[in-house]
Amino acid sequence: MSRPVWVYLLMAAVVAAAGGLAYYGYRYSRELSVRERAVILDTMRELAEEKIIGIESELIKSDNAVFRRVDFANLLKLNDFLGTERPAVESVVILDDSFAVVPSGFFTKRRGDSIGELRKLLQERVIGDLGLERLEFERRGHLHAYYDGRPYLFSYIKRAAGERVYYVVLEADLGYLVSTIFQQYFAVRSPRLYQVVDSAGEVVYGFDFAGLPEESVVEIPFSETVDRWRLRVAQPEAAALTGRSSRQKVDLVFIGSALIVILVGLSGVLLGLQRERRANELKSEFISNVSHELKTPLSIISMFGEMLALGRTRSSAQATEYAEIIWRESLRLARLIDNVLDFAKIERGVDVYEFAEGDPVEVVDRSVTLSAQRMQGADMTLDVEVDPEVPMLSMDAGALTLAILNLLDNAVKYAAAGRRVELRLQRRDRRVIIMVRDFGPGIAAEEQGRIFDRFYRARAVRLQPIRGSGIGLSLVKHIAQAHGGDVEVESGLGRGTTFRMWIPIPAGG
Ligand code: ADP
Repeated sequence: MSRPVWVYLLMAAVVAAAGGLAYYGYRYSRELSVRERAVILDTMRELAEEKIIGIESELIKSDNAVFRRVDFANLLKLNDFLGTERPAVESVVILDDSFAVVPSGFFTKRRGDSIGELRKLLQERVIGDLGLERLEFERRGHLHAYYDGRPYLFSYIKRAAGERVYYVVLEADLGYLVSTIFQQYFAVRSPRLYQVVDSAGEVVYGFDFAGLPEESVVEIPFSETVDRWRLRVAQPEAAALTGRSSRQKVDLVFIGSALIVILVGLSGVLLGLQRERRANELKSEFISNVSHELKTPLSIISMFGEMLALGRTRSSAQATEYAEIIWRESLRLARLIDNVLDFAKIERGVDVYEFAEGDPVEVVDRSVTLSAQRMQGADMTLDVEVDPEVPMLSMDAGALTLAILNLLDNAVKYAAAGRRVELRLQRRDRRVIIMVRDFGPGIAAEEQGRIFDRFYRARAVRLQPIRGSGIGLSLVKHIAQAHGGDVEVESGLGRGTTFRMWIPIPAGG
């Protein structure tokens, strides 16, 4: 298996492992918070049950104390006891076996009209509702009911006194239950909130739970006393745990960022690998291109050298022509080798430039001389215009010549069809501009940004038998930038190409 396939498989495995870990991490954190919530809700339920048992047994204890005190033979004693000791009981009614109130068998803490109302209510409705006929001896029964919209709680018991059967019915003081007993049980400082609601959901006692989610509220009904009411408990902490808890959110953020880091890291590695592969491809392309470029002039030199050596010339003029060809090709070879050597030095980070005060006009003249032969060979004309205003500059004359020659060489290589090349040396404000313009095929807009990259060759060129190494323009750019300037291209397919290399003129120049 080739290396990239391995690498991709490995990366897929890393992504899968990271994804799996993230998924399990997330699930674990979710399960944990679900469990945590269940524990909190269980604790709340237990506490609520305890409170209900406490309240109900207090009420039942109070009822039983009254039941015990009832002495059928001496009912009057009950009044004092009720008034002083049993605040939870509002009224006591003694009924005979035909469910009628016995004489002096009605005690109440009520005042005024409400005494009559209670009597009436008992006789007309409550006694019928109690279900006394089914009651067993000494077994407490209770009735929590609403009459005319008001709540009542009655407890009752069946007793025997000698031959006679009687019933004791107690009316609980619900006002006392709510304002005192509930208060005692629920107003304690605790992280929980308590509320008692009736069957319609109306709050009888306690806090408003508005804003708390229903799932975080535990609800338990009373069973032995006010069984139409329910106790509701909420814990804001548990509310926070419903939905997505804050810890779970933090976990999610952590897991998410870890995944992102892994993915970004892997993409970086992939990109690096791709770049490395592309660079390797470019390098081998470069080597084959350079070798080919070296080979062409070398084979020309060797061919004409051999002819001269063997005396295969018809005239001395022809011999001179062959020698000139050899000279020209050797210059081309030298330039190519210069290019490659300089490029290699720049790549290694060696400072290749030697700056000295010099005249740009001389640099241009030298470049024109050196490229004249090639221009001629390609049947092209070079039109040169030099601005006499151009000042002396601190520069590396050799490097600048190499840059101009590269631009002119490119014009010959790629734009020979345009027949003409313009070379301008100009001064524009604080810049010296060297412009090389051809009338060739031009460069596609989307490739103009990349032609200055090392090894880059335009698509159109790669398909043609025009050889090149892809380092010429990157050298031009490096040289221009080393002089504090830059190089720009202006081109379009079919519109020719203009390169402008500029160098800043130092203050006072
Ligand atoms: P090389 O010429 O060795 O390929 P360069 O760095 O000198 O490398 O040029 C990079 C690419 O820019 C060339 O391959 C070519 O596609 C494009 N190019 C450069 N000069 C011209 C030009 N005058 N006309 C058209 N295309 C050009």
